[in-house]
Amino acid sequence: MTDASRVDGRSLQRETERIVNEIAQGLRTLDDGVAWFTGLSLAHRQEVLRDVAGYAMQAHITAAGGRAGVTQSGVKPTANPSVMICMDPPRYGFARLPADEHVTAFRVLVSVFTVADTRRRQTYCNGTCGHTWHNLPALTKEP
Ligand SMILES: [Zn+2]
Repeated sequence: MTDASRVDGRSLQRETERIVNEIAQGLRTLDDGVAWFTGLSLAHRQEVLRDVAGYAMQAHITAAGGRAGVTQSGVKPTANPSVMICMDPPRYGFARLPADEHVTAFRVLVSVFTVADTRRRQTYCNGTCGHTWHNLPALTKEP
């Protein structure tokens, strides 16, 4: 791997984190995120799917949260990514899904993360946490 591609990987991670959290916090629509996602190369889409699955895991999704996320995502409950996320425990091999299921996987993962993260922001964080991703610049009030 060259230096340039490593730098590229890091900036993709930062972009993924920002976009996914903006969606979770209602600053960006899911469709807008999907438009960004579909513009990426195959390798980058797989990387994003791994990253977002990691966020979902860290947000401690529940089976109920998985189902609520699938409903919000607009993806059919019988689609592979929906079935995987609703398993107990969820199956996380989304990056290994066929390329034509990457968009539905992205929709499901971001929606499930949104459900879990919204619950966490409203309970545990309660507007006073130090999570950088819960304190995005767009949410900061002007003095
Ligand atoms: Zn927080």
